[in-house]
Amino acid sequence: MPVTSSPPPPGEPPHTEHAHVWSNWAGNQTCRVPVVRPTTEAELRRVVADAAEGGRHLKAVGSGHSFTGVALTDGLMVALEDYGRVRAVDREACTVTVEAGCRLRDLSEALWTRGLALPNLGDIDVQSVAGATATATHGTGLAFGNLSSAVVGLRLVDGTGEVVDCDADHRPEVFRAARAGLGALGLVSTLTLQCVAAFHLHAVHEPRPVDEVLDAFDDLVAAHDHFEFFWVPGTRWALTKTHRRNHDPVAPRSRKDAFVADLLVDNLGFGLANRAGALRPSWFKQVARRLPSAGRTEFNDRSYRVFASPRHVRFVESEWAVPVEATVEVFRRVRKVADGLGYPVTFPVEVRVSAADDITLSTATGRTTGWVSVHMYRGMPHEGYFAQVADVMADYDARPHWGKLHPRTAADLAPLYPGWDEFQEVRARLDPHGTFDNGELRRVLGPVGG
Ligand SMILES: Cc1cc2nc3c(=O)[nH]c(=O)nc-3n(C[C@H](O)[C@H](O)[C@H](O)COP(=O)(O)OP(=O)(O)OC[C@H]3O[C@@H](n4cnc5c(N)ncnc54)[C@H](O)[C@@H]3O)c2cc1C
Repeated sequence: MPVTSSPPPPGEPPHTEHAHVWSNWAGNQTCRVPVVRPTTEAELRRVVADAAEGGRHLKAVGSGHSFTGVALTDGLMVALEDYGRVRAVDREACTVTVEAGCRLRDLSEALWTRGLALPNLGDIDVQSVAGATATATHGTGLAFGNLSSAVVGLRLVDGTGEVVDCDADHRPEVFRAARAGLGALGLVSTLTLQCVAAFHLHAVHEPRPVDEVLDAFDDLVAAHDHFEFFWVPGTRWALTKTHRRNHDPVAPRSRKDAFVADLLVDNLGFGLANRAGALRPSWFKQVARRLPSAGRTEFNDRSYRVFASPRHVRFVESEWAVPVEATVEVFRRVRKVADGLGYPVTFPVEVRVSAADDITLSTATGRTTGWVSVHMYRGMPHEGYFAQVADVMADYDARPHWGKLHPRTAADLAPLYPGWDEFQEVRARLDPHGTFDNGELRRVLGPVGG
C-alpha cells in the first residue's frame, strides 16, 4: 500500500485514562478498557503505531449509538470527541472537510452559517460523522443515498500507523470500501462530504390507518422527497412523516407542538406505553391506541431540525435493508410476527426507503432499498421477536444494518455483497495485524485475511 507520509512523528502519545466501563447509548454493550482522547492526526498516528507495535487491539468510538458491539474492544478505546473540527469548506464545490469526531448536529449548524446542508439525515443527529458513515447510516427518500454516499474523500490512519488518502480517483478500491468501513480498515481521520445548498423541509406528520398507508406505499414514496411511517403494534395506526424540500419561509412548530410531538409522541408517549406494558401488558394497548390521536402537525423549518429529533426513551433495534419492491410484503410479514408473539411489542415498526449506491459494504449497494426496523424498549425481552423477524428476512436477501442487532455471520453475509472479496482484500492490506479487529467484526466479517 503506497503511503502519503513518513513514520509517526516523535513525541509523547496522548494521555491514556485508566480502564473504566464504557457503555453504548442503549446500554446493551459494555467493555472495561483504557481510553485515549487524541486531538490531532499526529496523535492518532502515534496511538495506532504504539498499539500495532505492542500487538494490542484498538477501536475508535463515535457517540456510541450502535446497538451491536461494533465499537467494543479488549485493547484501547480511542474516543474522538476532541477531534471534531470543521477543517475546510469549499463553497464552489459544495463540500466540507471535517475531523472524524465531529457530531452531525454540530456539522449541520456549521454548514448552515455557510449556506450549506447535508443532503439527508436519519432520525437523530448526535452521531459522529465517522461513526455514522462507518455503518452506512441512512434516512429516508427514494432519491437520497445514505450518509456514506455523501463521502467524496477520506483520510485514514491504517494498521501500521501510515496515513492513506483516497477518493474516487485515488485508490478507488480503498475509497469504495472505506466510505462504509465498519471501523475495520483504520482510524478515519478526516472526511470530505458532498453537501447541497441549505434548504428547508415542509413537514406533515399525521396518523393514518396502516392498511391505507400500505395500499398507497409506492405512490407515497414516489410523491414525497422523504416519506416514512411508524406502525404501532397492536393497533391499526401508523404515524406517517412526509417531508418536502423547499426554500419557503420558515414556519416552525410552536414550542407546545414541538414538545407534544417530540417529547410526548416520539419519546414519553412510547415511554409511558412501554412502562405501562412492562407493568401490565394489557395497559400497553390502551396507552398505544391513544398515541396516534395525538393529531396532525405541519411546519416548515431548517432541514436538519426537521430530519432529526431527540430520543429520550432508550431501546434496542434491529433493521433490515430489502429490495424496495419487497418492502410492503416484508412489512406485512413483520406485522404478523409482532401481533402473533403473545406478548405486547411496545415500540413501533419503522419503514423507510433509500437510493442505491456503489459502496462495497453499504447496505444499499447495487439496489434501491426499503428499510424495515423493529424496536424494543430497553430491558424488555427482544430476542424472540428479533429472531423471528430475522427469519422472515432470510426470504428477501435482506442485509442487516451494520450498527443494529442481528444474528447473521460472515458466511451468511458474503453472498449478499458482490464486492465482499474486494473489501476483505483491502482490509487485509490496511490492517495486516488485525489491530482494529473485535468480536463483532470477527462475527460479521470473519478473521482478517481469512
Ligand atoms: C436512537 C438511535 C437512532 C438511530 N437512528 C438511525 C437512523 O435514523 N438511521 C440509521 O441508519 N441508523 C440509525 N441509528 C444507528 C446509528 O446511526 C449507527 O449505529 C451509527 O454508526 C452510530 O454512530 P456513532 O457515532 O455513535 O458511532 P459508534 O456507534 O460509536 O461507532 C460505530 C462504528 O464506527 C466506528 N468508528 C467511529 N469513529 C471511527 C473512526 N474515526 N475511524 C474508524 N472507525 C470509526 C466504530 O469503531 C464502530 O465500528 C440510530 C441509533 C440510535 C441509538
